[in-house]
Order: sequence, then C-alpha cells, then structure tokens
Amino acid sequence: MLRFRLKPTKEQEQKLFYTFYLCRKLYNQALEERITYYREKGISIRYTDQQNQLPTWKQEHPEYKEVHSQVLQNVLQRLDQAFVNFFEKRARFPKFKNKFMFRSITYPQARARYFHENQVYLPKIGWVRMMAHQPFDAASVKIINVKFHDGRWDVNLTYGTEAVVSRTEIQNAVGIDLGVLSLIATSEGEFFENPQWLQKSEGRLKRKQRQLSRKKKGSKNREKAKQKLQCLHDHVANQRKDHLHKISRSLVDRYDLICMEDLPVTGMMKNDRLAKSIANASWGKLATYLEYKAKNAGKHLITVPPHYTSQRCSGGCGTIVKKNLSVRLHQCPTCGLEIDRDVNAAINILHRGLEIRHQAS
Ligand SMILES: [Zn+2]
Repeated sequence: MLRFRLKPTKEQEQKLFYTFYLCRKLYNQALEERITYYREKGISIRYTDQQNQLPTWKQEHPEYKEVHSQVLQNVLQRLDQAFVNFFEKRARFPKFKNKFMFRSITYPQARARYFHENQVYLPKIGWVRMMAHQPFDAASVKIINVKFHDGRWDVNLTYGTEAVVSRTEIQNAVGIDLGVLSLIATSEGEFFENPQWLQKSEGRLKRKQRQLSRKKKGSKNREKAKQKLQCLHDHVANQRKDHLHKISRSLVDRYDLICMEDLPVTGMMKNDRLAKSIANASWGKLATYLEYKAKNAGKHLITVPPHYTSQRCSGGCGTIVKKNLSVRLHQCPTCGLEIDRDVNAAINILHRGLEIRHQAS
C-alpha cells in the first residue's frame, strides 16, 4: 500500500465532507435496520440484501446521487465486516458512528485512467492534487482510499494483488447446517430450499418405488417397471447434483471460509428412510463440491465435529436448550436469544470452525 498527501481545493474538501456525512448516515441506517430486523424477526440481514436496496435508497434520498455507487457499496461492506469481526469475537458489537468516527471513503475499483501526473481522479469529487513523492504503477492500483485525519488529507493506494484473498486471509466466514425443514440454513439466516421441481420428482420416485414393490417378483411387468425406475432415479440424481452445484457455487463466491459438520445429523431428519438417505447423500456431495470449489478459488472449508450444535445457545451464554424436532425456534432462557433453530445451529458450527482454525494457526 502507498500513502500520499492529498491537496483538495476548498470546494473539493466540502464535497468530501458532505460525502462522509452521507456515507455515515447510510452506515447508521443500515446498522439500525440490521438490529431491528434481528430483534423483531430473529433473522440477520446480509450484505447482499442491503446492497440490493441501494437503488431504492437512492430514489428516496436523491442527495445520494452525489456519491459514487461503489463508495456506497463499500460503506455496506464495512458494516458487514464489522459484524463478521463481532461474530468472530474480534470486536465488540458494531457501533453507530458519529462524525469523528467516519472520515474516510473507499473506491474499490480504481482504473489506470484515474491517475494523471500529480492528480488522482475521485469519481463525483473530481481531479484532486496528489503529492506522489515516489513513482508508482497506476495500472496496478485497485483500491483508492481517501482519509481525513489530524487536519490533513491522505490517499491510500492498494495494488490489485494485495486485494486478492490469499489462502490465509479470511474476511468473511459462514457456518452451514443441515436444516430440519429447509435443506440448508446458514449462520447469516439464509435458507436454501429444495426447489419444487426437485421435490416433485422425488415424490414421483417414491411412488414408483412403492408400485414396484407391489409387482410380482420375476414378472415381465416388474422388469419393465424396474428399468423405468432406474431411469427416473438417474434423472432425479442429476437434478439434485445440479442444485447442489448451484448452492456450493453461491457459498464459495460469497465467503472465504465455510464451516460445516463432519457428518450429517441423521437424527434430525423426519422419520423417513428415503429422506434420510437423500439428506446423507446430499450432505456428502455438498461437502465434496464445496471442498474442490473452495480450493480452486483459494478459499477454505472446515468441517467440525457435531456436538450439541443444535441445542447449545449461540448467543454467547452457551446454555444447552433441549428441543425436539417440532420446535422451530431456539429460545434461550438465560440470555433471551430467540432465533430460528437451524440458524442457531449454523452459528454454533461457524464458531466451532473458527475455533479450530485459530488453534491450527
Ligand atoms: Zn443464550
């Protein structure tokens, strides 16, 4: 990273301060939204959810047209990072920021053309004088960060290679749990369901299997039905794989570290042998897909031993809250946490994965 002094004009300075103000307002608003949602509905809002709301936010607050969209996205990313730090027990719960706490903005996607002689182009602010006291490779600069502190302006330039996530640097982690009702729940409160077309074909498969068992052994009809069933079986297996590929891709794209349990918790499944064997097979496949996709992307997968992940309170008090399968909500008598049972388990899995990782490093 390189740091140079920045010499904005009075007018540019005002624009920068106004940008800080707007960004801070967005940050605090987004934080409040996360807190309210969590309190009222027990679910965590994710970065992507908030990012998707940005266009609406801009429509309702036209003054935000004066801030570059990447800068706004970065504000939400900072908030997300603050939550990750909190969840990983590296920091306290994210705070609302006053004007002394919010004095920098980041352009995460710099271009070579943003640099010309002793000037840097800050979108929506303009060309600002930069005291480059040493030569640097403008084409490699990926991130521009502008900071005001001690009454002066600094610009930090980060090269592209530094921004790429290395195998050791983890910025966001997620825990995933095999859900009771949904296929997968994540520690961020996201649910992956089996799509309806897949449920349908699985239902059809089940019916055909039952029909086959009623046919007379050795009969021609039974042989025919058996072949048909095999075809359908392959078809459903492929559909299932397809879906698992999509889920694993989506997780690996968004997270640097994914934590999951070693073994499927078969006791969690409804008393249905087919459902159970499908779940087992799916879990194993998902683990495989996640592993190689993570490896190819330079990311991490950690498997943790499943012990009390569904019973333990993830709110930090560690109370064991016993609940049978019909109970959807984890309600902690000690700390008062109320949260979806599968999300509670996923958070425990995340914590355990992070513990294992810290011990290893
Ligand atoms: Zn608790």
